[in-house]
Amino acid sequence: MPNNKKTNKPTDKHKYIFVIGGVMSGVGKGITTSSIGTILESKGYKINIMKVDPYLNVDAGTMNPTEHGEVFVMDSGLETDQDMGNYERFLNRSLKKEDYMTSGMVYKYVIDKERALGFGGKCIDADNIRDEIVTRYESSAKTNKSDITVVEIGGTVGDYQNIMFIEAARVMKLRHPKDVVFIMVSYMPIPNKIGEMKSKPTQNAIRQLNSYGVHADFIVARSELPVDKKRKEKIAFSCNVPVENIISAPDIDSIYDVPINFEKDQLGEMLTRELSLPHRKTNMKGWRDFVSKVKTASENAEKDKKYIKIAVVGKYFDSGDFVFSDAYVSVIEAIKFSAYKLGVKVKLSWLNSKDFEKDPKSIKDLKHYDGIIVPGGFGNNGIEGLIKTIEYARVNKIPYFGLCYGMQLMVIEYVRNVLGWKDANTSEINPNSEHLVIDIMPDQKIKLDNGHYGASMRLGSYPAVVGKGTIAHKAYGKSEINERHRHRYEVNPMYIDEIQKAGLLFSGKSPNGKLMEIAELPKNVHPFFLGTQFHPEFLARPLDPHPLFTEFIKTILGL
Ligand code: GLN
Repeated sequence: MPNNKKTNKPTDKHKYIFVIGGVMSGVGKGITTSSIGTILESKGYKINIMKVDPYLNVDAGTMNPTEHGEVFVMDSGLETDQDMGNYERFLNRSLKKEDYMTSGMVYKYVIDKERALGFGGKCIDADNIRDEIVTRYESSAKTNKSDITVVEIGGTVGDYQNIMFIEAARVMKLRHPKDVVFIMVSYMPIPNKIGEMKSKPTQNAIRQLNSYGVHADFIVARSELPVDKKRKEKIAFSCNVPVENIISAPDIDSIYDVPINFEKDQLGEMLTRELSLPHRKTNMKGWRDFVSKVKTASENAEKDKKYIKIAVVGKYFDSGDFVFSDAYVSVIEAIKFSAYKLGVKVKLSWLNSKDFEKDPKSIKDLKHYDGIIVPGGFGNNGIEGLIKTIEYARVNKIPYFGLCYGMQLMVIEYVRNVLGWKDANTSEINPNSEHLVIDIMPDQKIKLDNGHYGASMRLGSYPAVVGKGTIAHKAYGKSEINERHRHRYEVNPMYIDEIQKAGLLFSGKSPNGKLMEIAELPKNVHPFFLGTQFHPEFLARPLDPHPLFTEFIKTILGL
């Protein structure tokens, strides 16, 4: 047993719910975790949700989005897994940096401490890693002053990479048996040829979890179809879990239905009972209103064929033979929230900008879309295809919304084709170009020259001021905004006057006026040609859609 004198024991009241995956990844552990948070918060408990990622990267910032999906940026600037975005969207608020940890973060901290003689000459081993994880579970709870911490453990039971996180949770259960609950999110396949729902993989996953000394109190059984009574009984018997604690979670159209479905099974009440918390009623009115808007939009689409077509033109869609839209999950959700608000459904298409480079004539296919979005990105690949996309949107007056790189490339397109500076570029691509209209920020250059890439961009929430009488101002309805950033390059101050004289307006700027935050063309020139240096998608929430996405879709609808 580690020495726990120094660790902050949770108060009698503080509770932990650990969500662990069984069988395979990608079956909705993150959505289960988010939904549990939503339900418990609607009961008036103060919740915080935590994600732990087994990889050794200290944060997600240095990873290509084709590896683990989108890099989500928090207000604090921490670059995290996309699940943090789901939690914020479901809880309708921003989370804290203490709500996220990776193995890399933990190992780095422990090793750095050892190097600084922080352990007073002791032998440091895996137990210290486990104890540091326990400390972080507890400090996330403390920082948030929450009643219940819901922790999603990344990976699947049986992975060796996440063992330490489960081990730390086991220790917490040992110390506080009444305050810790384990949920396994498992999968029940229905193999085509057999045509029957199989429970064996779930049984094996539970056995694996038991071998760590951890017993699942609940099993969320994901499957294509609802889990029937017979199979529930079978799992209950073989996994030693009460049958009522087996929650059937069949595939559904919208992830936002999940909290409501769980509530039908009274998962919230069962969890609070298990945690010896007093019974409280659930109040999910806001959430239900949102879900009914989603339904209305779908019904309208079926009835009147009323939907809009938006192309997201990006460069991180390659994943073998499959399209991988996870790289832009916040963008996709942001579009949908604003569309639901306006009662329409969106048909999204993922277009790979590299295809426009291979076959330049295919750019004309863009005429089939009501709106075009170019989201964030890095580096050379597919860039000329993106610039062609933006040119097509500008010339053909198709509503265009550029996010971060999508704004920088919009500026490049404009000066190349309107000002005639054909060599205009960003120093990210061609530092030798004569007109570097997008250039590296001086402090960023020093970092790159020293090979300092991790967590070193302009990251997190910064204020900006929006000029009156602009499209951006109309959308926000105010001048002062705060938005999340993740970039190294900026509109070059040297060219701002010339660009504005040529008609492209910088309608949002940093409070000192030096950094260009929003670029737009006036409404009489183009219905919506607007780009943001920041990432508005990170603040778009189901119950609070982002005003710029809403304005973009309003324009498409002619509102
Ligand atoms: N690559 C660009 C930069 O670093 C844009 C980054 C982004 O789109 N997030 O400034």
